[in-house]
Amino acid sequence: MLGLIGTPVEHSKSPAMYNYCFQKFDLDWAYLAFDIPAEQAGEAVAAIRTLGMRGANVTMPCKNAVIPFVDALTPAARAIQAVNTIVNEGGVLVGHNTDGCGYTQNLRRNGIEVAGKKIVLLGGGGAASAIAIQAALEGAAEIAVFNLRDAFWPRVEQGLKAIAQAAPGCAISLQDLEDRSALKAAIDRCDILSNATRVGMAPYEDQSNITDLSWFRPDLVVTDVVYAPPETKMLREARVAGCKTCDGLGMLLCQGAEAFRLYSGLEMPVEEIRALLYT
Ligand code: NAD
Repeated sequence: MLGLIGTPVEHSKSPAMYNYCFQKFDLDWAYLAFDIPAEQAGEAVAAIRTLGMRGANVTMPCKNAVIPFVDALTPAARAIQAVNTIVNEGGVLVGHNTDGCGYTQNLRRNGIEVAGKKIVLLGGGGAASAIAIQAALEGAAEIAVFNLRDAFWPRVEQGLKAIAQAAPGCAISLQDLEDRSALKAAIDRCDILSNATRVGMAPYEDQSNITDLSWFRPDLVVTDVVYAPPETKMLREARVAGCKTCDGLGMLLCQGAEAFRLYSGLEMPVEEIRALLYT
Protein backbone atom coordinates (compact mmCIF):
# COMPACT_ATOMS: atom_id res chain seq x y z
CA MET A 1 0.00 0.00 0.00
CA LEU A 2 0.97 3.60 -0.71
CA GLY A 3 -0.83 6.85 -0.11
CA LEU A 4 -0.99 10.60 -0.04
CA ILE A 5 -0.97 12.46 3.26
CA GLY A 6 -1.99 16.10 3.74
CA THR A 7 -5.15 18.17 3.57
CA PRO A 8 -7.21 18.84 1.49
CA VAL A 9 -6.62 15.75 -0.66
CA GLU A 10 -10.07 14.82 -1.91
CA HIS A 11 -9.52 16.34 -5.38
CA SER A 12 -5.98 15.00 -5.78
CA LYS A 13 -5.24 13.14 -9.00
CA SER A 14 -2.42 11.17 -7.35
CA PRO A 15 -4.52 8.06 -6.55
CA ALA A 16 -5.71 7.84 -10.19
CA MET A 17 -2.16 8.42 -11.49
CA TYR A 18 -0.41 5.82 -9.34
CA ASN A 19 -3.20 3.21 -9.44
CA TYR A 20 -3.21 3.46 -13.25
CA CYS A 21 0.54 2.75 -13.23
CA PHE A 22 0.17 -0.19 -10.81
CA GLN A 23 -2.39 -1.77 -13.15
CA LYS A 24 -0.28 -1.05 -16.21
CA PHE A 25 2.76 -2.75 -14.68
CA ASP A 26 0.68 -5.54 -13.12
CA LEU A 27 1.74 -4.56 -9.58
CA ASP A 28 -0.54 -5.80 -6.79
CA TRP A 29 -0.33 -2.39 -5.09
CA ALA A 30 -2.94 0.21 -4.09
CA TYR A 31 -2.77 3.97 -3.46
CA LEU A 32 -5.20 5.94 -1.30
CA ALA A 33 -5.52 9.59 -0.22
CA PHE A 34 -5.56 10.21 3.55
CA ASP A 35 -6.80 13.55 4.92
CA ILE A 36 -4.13 14.41 7.52
CA PRO A 37 -3.67 17.79 9.22
CA ALA A 38 -0.13 18.85 10.22
CA GLU A 39 -0.76 17.92 13.90
CA GLN A 40 -1.29 14.29 12.88
CA ALA A 41 1.77 14.05 10.62
CA GLY A 42 3.64 11.97 13.21
CA GLU A 43 0.78 9.47 13.54
CA ALA A 44 0.52 9.19 9.75
CA VAL A 45 4.27 8.45 9.47
CA ALA A 46 3.97 5.88 12.28
CA ALA A 47 1.17 4.22 10.29
CA ILE A 48 3.53 3.81 7.31
CA ARG A 49 5.76 1.73 9.60
CA THR A 50 2.91 -0.14 11.35
CA LEU A 51 1.14 -1.07 8.13
CA GLY A 52 4.37 -1.87 6.27
CA MET A 53 3.46 0.62 3.53
CA ARG A 54 6.00 1.05 0.71
CA GLY A 55 5.72 4.79 1.12
CA ALA A 56 3.66 7.95 0.79
CA ASN A 57 3.54 11.24 -0.99
CA VAL A 58 3.26 14.24 1.28
CA THR A 59 1.43 17.44 0.44
CA MET A 60 0.55 20.67 2.27
CA PRO A 61 0.46 21.24 5.21
CA CYS A 62 2.55 18.17 6.13
CA LYS A 63 5.68 18.62 3.97
CA ASN A 64 7.60 20.10 6.88
CA ALA A 65 5.68 18.45 9.72
CA VAL A 66 6.73 14.88 8.75
CA ILE A 67 10.46 15.67 9.03
CA PRO A 68 10.97 14.86 12.75
CA PHE A 69 9.36 11.45 12.21
CA VAL A 70 11.38 10.06 9.26
CA ASP A 71 14.76 8.32 9.69
CA ALA A 72 16.77 10.02 6.93
CA LEU A 73 16.54 12.91 4.50
CA THR A 74 18.05 13.32 1.04
CA PRO A 75 20.37 16.34 0.66
CA ALA A 76 17.67 18.28 -1.22
CA ALA A 77 14.95 17.57 1.36
CA ARG A 78 17.35 18.49 4.18
CA ALA A 79 18.45 21.76 2.58
CA ILE A 80 14.90 23.00 2.01
CA GLN A 81 13.31 21.26 5.03
CA ALA A 82 10.45 19.88 2.95
CA VAL A 83 9.54 16.27 2.15
CA ASN A 84 7.04 15.34 -0.57
CA THR A 85 7.82 11.61 -0.82
CA ILE A 86 8.59 9.07 1.91
CA VAL A 87 10.02 5.72 0.86
CA ASN A 88 10.06 2.78 3.26
CA GLU A 89 13.40 1.06 2.63
CA GLY A 90 13.02 -2.11 4.71
CA GLY A 91 11.81 -0.24 7.79
CA VAL A 92 13.99 2.86 7.29
CA LEU A 93 11.82 5.80 6.22
CA VAL A 94 13.66 8.12 3.82
CA GLY A 95 12.26 11.59 3.13
CA HIS A 96 12.79 12.87 -0.43
CA ASN A 97 11.71 15.99 -2.27
CA THR A 98 10.96 15.20 -5.91
CA ASP A 99 9.59 18.65 -6.89
CA GLY A 100 13.01 19.92 -7.97
CA CYS A 101 13.78 16.66 -9.84
CA GLY A 102 10.40 17.06 -11.53
CA TYR A 103 11.49 20.47 -12.73
CA THR A 104 14.91 19.42 -14.07
CA GLN A 105 13.51 16.17 -15.51
CA ASN A 106 10.83 18.12 -17.37
CA LEU A 107 13.56 20.34 -18.83
CA ARG A 108 15.58 17.25 -19.75
CA ARG A 109 12.59 15.78 -21.57
CA ASN A 110 12.67 19.00 -23.60
CA GLY A 111 16.37 18.62 -24.36
CA ILE A 112 17.66 21.09 -21.75
CA GLU A 113 20.20 20.36 -18.98
CA VAL A 114 20.58 22.83 -16.09
CA ALA A 115 24.31 22.07 -15.58
CA GLY A 116 26.35 25.18 -16.34
CA LYS A 117 23.25 27.31 -16.92
CA LYS A 118 22.37 30.75 -15.55
CA ILE A 119 18.83 30.75 -14.14
CA VAL A 120 16.56 33.65 -13.15
CA LEU A 121 14.11 32.27 -10.61
CA LEU A 122 11.01 34.34 -9.81
CA GLY A 123 9.72 33.51 -6.32
CA GLY A 124 11.18 32.05 -3.17
CA GLY A 125 8.43 29.82 -1.71
CA GLY A 126 8.14 26.04 -1.64
CA ALA A 127 8.28 25.38 -5.38
CA ALA A 128 11.11 27.88 -5.91
CA SER A 129 13.23 26.38 -3.11
CA ALA A 130 12.82 22.88 -4.55
CA ILE A 131 13.91 24.12 -7.99
CA ALA A 132 16.84 26.09 -6.57
CA ILE A 133 18.34 23.23 -4.56
CA GLN A 134 17.95 20.67 -7.35
CA ALA A 135 19.32 22.98 -10.05
CA ALA A 136 22.24 23.91 -7.78
CA LEU A 137 22.97 20.24 -6.98
CA GLU A 138 22.86 19.41 -10.71
CA GLY A 139 25.51 22.05 -11.42
CA ALA A 140 23.66 25.23 -12.43
CA ALA A 141 26.26 28.02 -12.61
CA GLU A 142 24.09 30.83 -11.24
CA ILE A 143 20.63 31.25 -9.75
CA ALA A 144 19.37 34.84 -9.45
CA VAL A 145 16.25 34.76 -7.28
CA PHE A 146 13.76 37.63 -7.43
CA ASN A 147 11.02 37.87 -4.80
CA LEU A 148 8.67 40.60 -3.66
CA ARG A 149 9.71 42.22 -0.41
CA ASP A 150 6.66 40.52 1.11
CA ALA A 151 6.17 38.31 4.18
CA PHE A 152 8.27 35.61 2.45
CA TRP A 153 11.44 37.73 2.17
CA PRO A 154 13.19 36.85 5.50
CA ARG A 155 12.40 33.15 5.02
CA VAL A 156 13.64 33.29 1.44
CA GLU A 157 16.93 34.85 2.60
CA GLN A 158 17.39 32.11 5.21
CA GLY A 159 16.39 29.35 2.82
CA LEU A 160 18.82 30.48 0.12
CA LYS A 161 21.66 30.50 2.66
CA ALA A 162 20.99 26.82 3.41
CA ILE A 163 20.87 26.03 -0.32
CA ALA A 164 24.15 27.89 -0.94
CA GLN A 165 25.77 25.87 1.85
CA ALA A 166 24.51 22.58 0.43
CA ALA A 167 25.64 23.44 -3.12
CA PRO A 168 28.57 25.87 -2.81
CA GLY A 169 29.49 25.66 -6.50
CA CYS A 170 26.43 27.65 -7.56
CA ALA A 171 26.31 31.47 -7.24
CA ILE A 172 22.97 32.30 -5.61
CA SER A 173 21.63 35.83 -5.14
CA LEU A 174 18.38 37.42 -3.97
CA GLN A 175 16.92 40.66 -5.32
CA ASP A 176 13.66 42.56 -5.20
CA LEU A 177 11.18 41.48 -7.91
CA GLU A 178 10.10 45.11 -8.19
CA ASP A 179 13.62 46.22 -9.18
CA ARG A 180 12.82 46.03 -12.89
CA SER A 181 16.23 47.18 -14.15
CA ALA A 182 18.02 44.49 -12.08
CA LEU A 183 15.49 41.93 -13.33
CA LYS A 184 15.98 42.94 -16.97
CA ALA A 185 19.78 42.83 -16.62
CA ALA A 186 19.59 39.35 -15.06
CA ILE A 187 17.22 38.05 -17.75
CA ASP A 188 19.46 39.48 -20.50
CA ARG A 189 22.37 37.31 -19.28
CA CYS A 190 20.46 34.16 -18.27
CA ASP A 191 19.66 30.93 -20.12
CA ILE A 192 16.49 29.94 -18.25
CA LEU A 193 13.73 32.19 -16.87
CA SER A 194 11.64 30.29 -14.34
CA ASN A 195 8.42 31.53 -12.74
CA ALA A 196 7.85 29.94 -9.32
CA THR A 197 5.47 32.57 -7.94
CA ARG A 198 1.70 32.22 -7.79
CA VAL A 199 1.36 34.75 -10.61
CA GLY A 200 -0.38 33.04 -13.52
CA MET A 201 -2.76 30.94 -11.40
CA ALA A 202 -6.16 32.13 -10.07
CA PRO A 203 -6.75 34.89 -9.03
CA TYR A 204 -3.69 36.12 -10.98
CA GLU A 205 -4.36 34.16 -14.20
CA ASP A 206 -4.42 37.31 -16.36
CA GLN A 207 -1.07 38.52 -14.94
CA SER A 208 2.58 37.88 -15.72
CA ASN A 209 5.72 38.96 -13.89
CA ILE A 210 7.15 39.92 -17.31
CA THR A 211 5.27 42.92 -18.63
CA ASP A 212 7.77 44.07 -21.27
CA LEU A 213 7.62 41.42 -23.99
CA SER A 214 10.84 42.70 -25.59
CA TRP A 215 12.66 40.92 -22.71
CA PHE A 216 11.84 37.58 -24.36
CA ARG A 217 14.40 36.46 -26.94
CA PRO A 218 14.30 33.24 -28.97
CA ASP A 219 17.28 31.63 -27.23
CA LEU A 220 15.69 32.09 -23.78
CA VAL A 221 14.04 29.04 -22.18
CA VAL A 222 10.96 30.08 -20.20
CA THR A 223 9.34 27.78 -17.63
CA ASP A 224 6.45 27.98 -15.18
CA VAL A 225 5.51 25.99 -12.07
CA VAL A 226 1.85 26.99 -12.31
CA TYR A 227 -0.09 24.08 -13.84
CA ALA A 228 -3.64 25.47 -13.81
CA PRO A 229 -3.98 26.84 -16.41
CA PRO A 230 -1.39 24.61 -18.13
CA GLU A 231 -0.26 27.52 -20.33
CA THR A 232 0.02 30.68 -18.24
CA LYS A 233 -0.03 34.19 -19.67
CA MET A 234 3.77 34.35 -19.28
CA LEU A 235 4.32 31.06 -21.13
CA ARG A 236 1.92 32.01 -23.93
CA GLU A 237 3.63 35.36 -24.47
CA ALA A 238 7.08 33.77 -24.33
CA ARG A 239 6.05 31.08 -26.84
CA VAL A 240 4.64 33.71 -29.21
CA ALA A 241 7.94 35.62 -28.89
CA GLY A 242 9.76 32.48 -30.07
CA CYS A 243 11.09 31.17 -26.73
CA LYS A 244 11.17 27.46 -25.88
CA THR A 245 8.70 26.91 -23.02
CA CYS A 246 8.17 24.17 -20.41
CA ASP A 247 4.96 24.10 -18.39
CA GLY A 248 4.11 23.36 -14.75
CA LEU A 249 2.03 20.34 -15.68
CA GLY A 250 5.13 18.68 -17.10
CA MET A 251 6.94 19.41 -13.83
CA LEU A 252 4.02 18.02 -11.81
CA LEU A 253 3.95 14.81 -13.84
CA CYS A 254 7.73 14.42 -13.70
CA GLN A 255 7.81 14.82 -9.90
CA GLY A 256 5.18 12.06 -9.71
CA ALA A 257 7.24 9.97 -12.12
CA GLU A 258 10.31 10.43 -9.90
CA ALA A 259 8.34 9.26 -6.84
CA PHE A 260 7.03 6.26 -8.83
CA ARG A 261 10.63 5.42 -9.80
CA LEU A 262 11.65 5.56 -6.13
CA TYR A 263 8.75 3.30 -5.09
CA SER A 264 8.94 0.77 -7.91
CA GLY A 265 12.11 1.26 -9.97
CA LEU A 266 9.84 1.66 -13.01
CA GLU A 267 9.33 4.50 -15.51
CA MET A 268 5.93 6.19 -15.39
CA PRO A 269 4.37 6.67 -18.85
CA VAL A 270 4.22 10.45 -18.43
CA GLU A 271 2.55 11.34 -21.73
CA GLU A 272 -0.09 8.63 -21.26
CA ILE A 273 -0.93 9.99 -17.79
CA ARG A 274 -1.02 13.54 -19.12
CA ALA A 275 -3.53 12.55 -21.80
CA LEU A 276 -5.58 10.44 -19.39
CA LEU A 277 -5.89 12.85 -16.47
CA TYR A 278 -5.26 16.34 -17.78
CA THR A 279 -6.99 16.73 -21.16
P1 NAD B 1 4.37 29.46 -1.69
O1 NAD B 1 3.20 30.07 -1.01
O2 NAD B 1 5.35 28.68 -0.91
O3 NAD B 1 5.20 30.64 -2.44
C1 NAD B 1 4.53 31.62 -3.21
C2 NAD B 1 5.55 32.53 -3.90
O4 NAD B 1 4.80 33.40 -4.77
C3 NAD B 1 6.35 33.43 -2.97
O5 NAD B 1 7.65 33.58 -3.51
C4 NAD B 1 5.59 34.77 -3.04
O6 NAD B 1 6.43 35.87 -2.75
C5 NAD B 1 5.15 34.76 -4.48
N1 NAD B 1 3.98 35.57 -4.76
C6 NAD B 1 2.73 35.41 -4.25
N2 NAD B 1 1.90 36.34 -4.76
C7 NAD B 1 2.65 37.08 -5.61
C8 NAD B 1 2.37 38.21 -6.47
N3 NAD B 1 1.15 38.74 -6.55
N4 NAD B 1 3.37 38.72 -7.22
C9 NAD B 1 4.61 38.18 -7.18
N5 NAD B 1 4.95 37.12 -6.38
C10 NAD B 1 3.96 36.60 -5.64
O7 NAD B 1 3.76 28.63 -2.88
P2 NAD B 1 4.41 27.37 -3.63
O8 NAD B 1 4.07 26.13 -2.92
O9 NAD B 1 5.83 27.68 -3.95
O10 NAD B 1 3.54 27.39 -4.97
C11 NAD B 1 3.72 28.39 -5.96
C12 NAD B 1 3.07 27.90 -7.25
O11 NAD B 1 3.73 26.71 -7.67
C13 NAD B 1 1.60 27.51 -7.11
O12 NAD B 1 0.94 27.91 -8.28
C14 NAD B 1 1.63 25.99 -7.03
O13 NAD B 1 0.42 25.40 -7.52
C15 NAD B 1 2.78 25.70 -7.95
N6 NAD B 1 3.47 24.40 -7.73
C16 NAD B 1 3.64 23.61 -8.81
C17 NAD B 1 4.32 22.41 -8.68
C18 NAD B 1 4.49 21.56 -9.90
O14 NAD B 1 4.88 20.39 -9.76
N7 NAD B 1 4.23 22.08 -11.09
C19 NAD B 1 4.83 22.03 -7.43
C20 NAD B 1 4.66 22.87 -6.33
C21 NAD B 1 3.96 24.08 -6.50
